[in-house]
Amino acid sequence: MKKYYIKDIASLENTSADFYGWVHEIRETKPIIFIILRDSTGKAQVTVKKSEHKQELLEKVSKLHHEDVIRIRGKVIRSQIAKLGYEIIPEDIEILAKAKHPLPIDVSGKIDAELPKILDARYISLRREEYFYTFKIQSVLVKNIRDFLYSRGFVEIFTPKIIRFATEGGAELFKVDYFGKDAYLAQSPQIYKEMCAGVFEKVFEIAQYYRAEKSRTNYHLAEFISFDVECAFYSYEDIMDLLEELLKYAINRTYEEAKEYFDKLGLNALDLNYKFERMSYDEAIDHLKDKGYKWGDDIPQLALSLLSEKIGQRFYFIKDWPSSLRPFYTKEHENDPRITRSFDLNFGFLEIASGGERVNKSEVLIEKLKRNNLNVENFDIFIKALDVASPPHAGFGLGISRLLMMLTAKKNIREAVLFPRDVDRLVP
Ligand code: ATP
Ligand code: MG
Repeated sequence: MKKYYIKDIASLENTSADFYGWVHEIRETKPIIFIILRDSTGKAQVTVKKSEHKQELLEKVSKLHHEDVIRIRGKVIRSQIAKLGYEIIPEDIEILAKAKHPLPIDVSGKIDAELPKILDARYISLRREEYFYTFKIQSVLVKNIRDFLYSRGFVEIFTPKIIRFATEGGAELFKVDYFGKDAYLAQSPQIYKEMCAGVFEKVFEIAQYYRAEKSRTNYHLAEFISFDVECAFYSYEDIMDLLEELLKYAINRTYEEAKEYFDKLGLNALDLNYKFERMSYDEAIDHLKDKGYKWGDDIPQLALSLLSEKIGQRFYFIKDWPSSLRPFYTKEHENDPRITRSFDLNFGFLEIASGGERVNKSEVLIEKLKRNNLNVENFDIFIKALDVASPPHAGFGLGISRLLMMLTAKKNIREAVLFPRDVDRLVP
């Protein structure tokens, strides 16, 4: 088992230890060969003075190439020039795996490559700092989201991803052959998380969902990671409060804990010390009137860019959407059923999350299913669940990769997903 990581090098001063990792760089001058050894925690300089080492070791060093996996047994000493303040003087080197050259991608990032090529060679492009730190940030971010929710008494749930009927509309479904019957890949955990909120009250799930999105945008994938929350006895205003508080906590905490990774990516922390604006759909349309938008129109990305010119690079909600633009399970305002108790959370021109209050009475649900031309029978189980008394509830779904993309300033969502799936990509 690997015992020491490069980040621990200072604690090993003047001792000999085994270091395992990748050959990141080799530089040779007449008297000295420098190997930059990389592991998942950093990079260390290994200094090989030609006059001071045995021929056997020098021969091994001469065989090393970029990205080879090695074990180096060496003594850690203080150094004036090495970046870490320490260097390793090798006593023994073992090559554990050779990298086949030429490599599909230059790991240092000095030689640029187009995105498709980077994604084709994901198994190595992830070693690039720009991606490596992005996914380290994702891990810290997700942990902080979980921490926040656990501290608030939420129950983490796992709902099925192979389902009998669609919940978010039929067009974007992937069909699968389920033991000879038709089934579909889940587009969201919607009805399942709602049923669980009727039992555990406050639930969340982080999981992959599937939408057969044929459009080739920079923000849509066929498989995406959704972070879903559902709470019994919460209004949509309560859920907006929760989402705002959660994002402020999780993002600020991630900036603290992953500061080093943000620094490596040259990114500054966003200031979240403001109240997320909550404009109504009516106000948004009012603002967009001059550009030809009218009540009842969706607000596409182009229109969001226009709105965000006014708001700046900030989070903001648009709430109270027309019923015709929201899924059947969304609750309408009692005094004005044209409008739903729903919201989107955007950052600039990008939709990050959608949420709202849900219908919790079966007769209302049946009426809304019919109005949306959906087959009532398909929702039989959900209707039965409402019939045993479902509390009023609300929740949201948030695209983790859209949030990550925004936090790490990526232009394309594919860069913020380890192994993206889209209409043109099923491999790797
Ligand atoms: P959009 O309007 O951007 O297509 P949507 O309104 O169809 O998204 P929702 O059903 O509201 O999406 O899903 C909740 C969240 O999940 C979205 O706000 C977004 O962050 C994320 N999301 C939805 N579809 C995708 C997708 N195809 N790829 C990546 N993220 C997605
Ligand atoms: Mg949405």
